[in-house]
Amino acid sequence: MVAITPDSPIAAVFGSSHKKRKLAEEGLGLATIGDLLRHFPRRYVAATELSEVATPVVGEQLTIVGEVRSCDSAPFTAGNRRQWRTTIRLRTDGPDFSVTLFSPYKNLADRHEAEFGAGSRALFTGKAKQFRGGWQLEQAHGFALDGEEGAMLSKLIPVYPLTAKLYTWDLQKVIATALDLVTGVPDVFTPELRERFELLTVMQALRWIHGPDDWSQLGAAQKRFRFEEALVLQLVLARRRAAHRAQGARGRPGRPDGVLAAFDARLPFELTAGQREIGDLVTAELARDHPMNRLLQGEVGSGKTVVALRAMLQVVDSGGQAALLAPTEVLAQQHLRSISAMLGDLAQGGMLGGAAEATSVVLLTGSMGRAARQESMLKIVTGEAGIVIGTHALLQDAVEFADLGLVVVDEQHRFGVEQRAALTDKAGTPPHVLVMTATPIPRTVAMTVFGDLETSVLAELPAGRAPIQTNVVPLAEQPTWIERVWQRVREEVEKGHQVYVVCPRISGDSGEEGESDQLDLDEDGKEVAPRRALAAVEEVHAELSAGPLAGLRSAVLHGRLAPEEKDRTMRAFAAGTLDVLVSTTVIEVGVDVHNATTMVLLDADRFGVSQLHQLRGRVGRGGLPGLCLLVSHAELGSPARDRLNAVASTTDGFELSRVDLEQRREGDVLGANQSGFRSSLVSLRVLRDEKTIVRAREAAEALLSEDPALAQAPELATAVAEVERSAASGFMEKG
Ligand code: ADP
Ligand code: MG
Repeated sequence: MVAITPDSPIAAVFGSSHKKRKLAEEGLGLATIGDLLRHFPRRYVAATELSEVATPVVGEQLTIVGEVRSCDSAPFTAGNRRQWRTTIRLRTDGPDFSVTLFSPYKNLADRHEAEFGAGSRALFTGKAKQFRGGWQLEQAHGFALDGEEGAMLSKLIPVYPLTAKLYTWDLQKVIATALDLVTGVPDVFTPELRERFELLTVMQALRWIHGPDDWSQLGAAQKRFRFEEALVLQLVLARRRAAHRAQGARGRPGRPDGVLAAFDARLPFELTAGQREIGDLVTAELARDHPMNRLLQGEVGSGKTVVALRAMLQVVDSGGQAALLAPTEVLAQQHLRSISAMLGDLAQGGMLGGAAEATSVVLLTGSMGRAARQESMLKIVTGEAGIVIGTHALLQDAVEFADLGLVVVDEQHRFGVEQRAALTDKAGTPPHVLVMTATPIPRTVAMTVFGDLETSVLAELPAGRAPIQTNVVPLAEQPTWIERVWQRVREEVEKGHQVYVVCPRISGDSGEEGESDQLDLDEDGKEVAPRRALAAVEEVHAELSAGPLAGLRSAVLHGRLAPEEKDRTMRAFAAGTLDVLVSTTVIEVGVDVHNATTMVLLDADRFGVSQLHQLRGRVGRGGLPGLCLLVSHAELGSPARDRLNAVASTTDGFELSRVDLEQRREGDVLGANQSGFRSSLVSLRVLRDEKTIVRAREAAEALLSEDPALAQAPELATAVAEVERSAASGFMEKG
């Protein structure tokens, strides 16, 4: 046998099995031996125990170990050919499963009977199905654990992420061969580091992760790989933070008699303690001569915008400009309206009647006419505009600032790091950056996804916020309750209030991208086709205005409307000349209509938990109690229904963001558009591995302070450079 290395193609271990090799290459994306060795099992089944399948789910792909109760073959005729059917009854911890194997020849059926004798143990993989009150495994494949194949198994059977027609034992075999033959697997940890962090060597860890004898070997192997991933990532982030710190920035201390002081003096309310505290922190950071990079988290309505505006005014007082980047046109316009309103004559700089210390606020969005845009751009480049509010249009090359001192990004979730970078590049010296998000982010997620930012949380809501009551309307069991929903809407409107109706789609025609954060992936990340047409804005609006809501003033709002039309509709709703707004999630963030008290979410199960939470934050803003109705066809006990119940049961955003993260695939949490780190996380789970992440962050800081270039650990330095490169190229591709 020739020696193989991590760079060898996987053909080296698949031998003559070209079909399986192709499945591994094309279905799983495994090209090299290194890829194969890092294709870790998804879970493990204990061969010595019966599988726990207490509550199987129909359609679920199961791998179970059971004891054969009985095994019988019988002939049958299919078409005009005689075949054999072997039926095996398996005892598990939970219900019995019956498995049927088909054989074209009698002697194959005989072999099955010999292999799966009563009392033997066997492992089967297949799809759970219910038939005549019993459970079956469909399209099952398996083998006896006491047989020839079983003998080579360790006591914990690895179950791999699979592709069709490639079985877990196929992978197990080739990985075992690869582990026997491979040489030269690099270890990011030097012996000193392994000792310091109490970690296995890479080869030992690979052997134990693919074939552990017991749970403690598995634990030790997992600990090593999780720590490795966490450490590499935290090193990347720590280097970014160090690079930020090394950059110079212009300090913007403000001045005591400027526009900020004037603004504070006329603020119609007291700042909350949180706003004051974070405000002081930001004030100090803006005054320093290296850039602030701060993430400000706070529920919808917690008063983030006021904090951001005060920071912008401080920069204006120091002779600089501040840009506020909003994710949509509607939001940019709303920010313009509300900021202009808050500033009053302080926003009328250079105009007759403007206050002496006033500045000027301009808007720049993609839908503005050429002339208006030119005018804004001129005010931006001359420095006449102290505050610039805009969308992506602000990122265009043609937009130049006189002296950009602060960038505020509203709703980080819609903006990638690279876009932040594009705007900060516009300033000669790096500007200060304040990122605002209404999605509560658990601490370790913030450490991972926003690890290059310092974070602050605005925990309390300003006084006078009314609670929001949320109810699930379960149409699966109670189809007629929908009538009550529309009746409730009419009652609200009769009281003089306004109502949002939110749908996951714009129209029923095919091929359209929904605007929701839809969760239609199954356990293996495959797309599941929806069984029912989803509620669509256009159709729902037509039906409601012809039926249950006839006579009410209503309109539609969605991303496909012309920007002027969207703006007109939003203005009309804000002004109270519309009773009902039927829309997609374009209203998700920031839109602020105090008189809107009720939100009806149709097909609510199509939205993510955090998204639902954000959406309902649109109501109950004006001191009037809010009502949110989550209308869904999801069945009792389904994960979708559980999600809705979770949203209905609490208004604690942090709690919900945990639920959300637990239900999503990690890749979505660390979406490439947010961090560029998606591909570098294989074993790490940001919630489960909190301790590991915290430990890795401390370790990264310590390692870099001892050895900034990681010269003592060259393999580790290579791994860090690799992630830096792939994160950077991820940004490039998207640009
Ligand atoms: P966010 O941006 O976090 O969603 P905003 O800053 O838009 O929240 O604030 C929501 C509403 O609450 C606005 O109408 C704002 O004027 C008001 N507000 C902000 N801070 C306070 C406060 N300390 N006391 C009372 N009302 C406040
Ligand atoms: Mg806001």
